[in-house]
Amino acid sequence: MAHQHDVIVIGAGGSGLTAALYAAKQGVDVAVISKLYPTRSHTGAAQGGIGAALGNVEEDHWEWHMFDTIKGGDYLTDQDAAEIFAKEVIEAVLELEHMGLPFDRLPNGRIAQRRFGGHTKEYGKAAVHRAAHAADRTGHMILQTLYQQCVKHNLTFYNEFHVTDVIIEDNVAKGVVAYELATGELHTFQAKAIVIASGGYGRAWKVTSNAFTLTGDLQAILYRKGLPLEDMEFYQFHPTGLFPLGILLTEGARGEGGILRNDSGERFMERYAPTIKDLAPRDMVARAMYLEVREGRGVGPRKDHVLLDLTHLPAETIHKKLPDISEFAWIYQGVDPTKQPVPVMPTAHYAMGGIPTTLSGEVIADDKNTLIAGLYAAGEVACVSLHGANRLGTNSLGDLVVFGRRAGTAAAKFAKSAELHDLSPDASGESRERLERVRNSSGKESVAALRAELQQAMQDYASVFRTEELLAKGVEAVAELQERYKNIGVQDKGERYNTELVEAMELGYLLEVSEATVHSCLNRKESRGAHAREDYPERDDKNWLKHSLVYRKNGKVDFMYKPVVLGKFEPKARTY
Ligand SMILES: Cc1cc2nc3c(=O)[nH]c(=O)nc-3n(C[C@H](O)[C@H](O)[C@H](O)COP(=O)(O)OP(=O)(O)OC[C@H]3O[C@@H](n4cnc5c(N)ncnc54)[C@H](O)[C@@H]3O)c2cc1C
Repeated sequence: MAHQHDVIVIGAGGSGLTAALYAAKQGVDVAVISKLYPTRSHTGAAQGGIGAALGNVEEDHWEWHMFDTIKGGDYLTDQDAAEIFAKEVIEAVLELEHMGLPFDRLPNGRIAQRRFGGHTKEYGKAAVHRAAHAADRTGHMILQTLYQQCVKHNLTFYNEFHVTDVIIEDNVAKGVVAYELATGELHTFQAKAIVIASGGYGRAWKVTSNAFTLTGDLQAILYRKGLPLEDMEFYQFHPTGLFPLGILLTEGARGEGGILRNDSGERFMERYAPTIKDLAPRDMVARAMYLEVREGRGVGPRKDHVLLDLTHLPAETIHKKLPDISEFAWIYQGVDPTKQPVPVMPTAHYAMGGIPTTLSGEVIADDKNTLIAGLYAAGEVACVSLHGANRLGTNSLGDLVVFGRRAGTAAAKFAKSAELHDLSPDASGESRERLERVRNSSGKESVAALRAELQQAMQDYASVFRTEELLAKGVEAVAELQERYKNIGVQDKGERYNTELVEAMELGYLLEVSEATVHSCLNRKESRGAHAREDYPERDDKNWLKHSLVYRKNGKVDFMYKPVVLGKFEPKARTY
């Protein structure tokens, strides 16, 4: 079936819905294509908050937020992006409030704010209350609020449609191909502008906070076309995954006063970050936890995790401010956080890297900032680069609304002066061929087994600490799995609700983004932010203060580089 719209948004998470809403406000015809029903998007799982210098609890300024974001990103953050972000996120949060988002309140009626990792006052002096929140369900509230607004604006939704291709010819984006889960039918969409907002790829790792559907589909689809992905070596591990599954326990728990302890009950973060301790940025806390375990100070029969202690907080605070994570601890570990400390270890969480874009979300095709006309990206799938080498907690939800709005607005403006492009009669041919190949495959390899092996390999070789030796093994393991993927077998040959086929396709995407990730990790010979190389333990601004762009040409992985946009905050040593 064929469809036409002015603007098509791929993805219905926080970034997609914001982009769609703002595009619609420009008076163009907007459709959203999502493989999930919109309110099931991962944004709905976000817990702790959205950071903005509202200054409701104590003095705060956007410049402080900008500085924290840049320092948190270990100076790989583009400073123009950080400035726009820190200014515009204030207005964006108030706008969400006016749309009806039920934020927690202070007694005086203003939006309540709590502390979060790496967010400070006066350029690093002490932790500051900056995270606006709705208990530990902030993302849920954001997603519901945005979805209601989209319904109000009568946007068209294609739900449970899996995008399998973006049609790009001569650096012009012309349309989208999608597979409808309910019928097995392939649809083509002509569009004047396309916004990619399809989220992250945390399912490449075994221990992860990410939902099952976060498989890097659109990153992989562009990468297959030879387009570059930016800064893929920077993948964030969130310190407090519920041990051993990795289900997230928000940093808001430490924002409310929670403390990490080792086997002797020591508050070990005092040694690693004397000023802000447990509220240091995530990369530092995750490394500290690994080092505690490695040096024999872990907890449990195998001494393989540490504890998140909330027992000193009033039970009422835990029940009111952290209800969901208390329930997770109880359901999955049988631990009541008001009475016992909770076992935790780092969990794969967030992609700082992704599809390179300009400040308006336009997709960049190379190191010379060549644009793909009509193609935009925003949210976790994109890399503007706001988060640099390490994202601060609460800055993703802010990123979604600030850069989602910019991308949606820019796409609509572009669409207003553009025409629909004719698509070749066989526009969906490549997707059809790939889908049929997978559906008809009858090889010996099981998709579930290969995925488990990939996740184990990424866990073993591309985790919190990295070395040349481990990464070389990672490169080899991913290449071998890609070969074996050619020999998978799919049992379900049906047309309707063929989830086995979809999972096989998703494994294909995961393999591509894992390839881009391990090669990028091996390539960057320094330690910066979330990329900790034990064989290159220092940050090397002389050689590596630059963004890497990984791409594949004729089957070979290669790199281009882009300078970091510097500004008033000179790169300095990073202590907290
Ligand atoms: C458990 C958890 C807690 C978090 N807590 C916070 C927090 O408190 N504060 C914060 O700032 N950040 C937090 N984050 C990070 C933040 O929530 C995410 O980075 C952000 O929500 C991503 O939003 P998104 O719009 O980019 O993508 P998502 O919300 O992941 O949405 C992706 C969309 O793309 C669609 N899609 C994907 N592939 C396809 C395809 N092939 N075809 C069609 N559609 C497709 C999906 O259907 C979905 O609608 C948290 C993350 C997790 C996992």
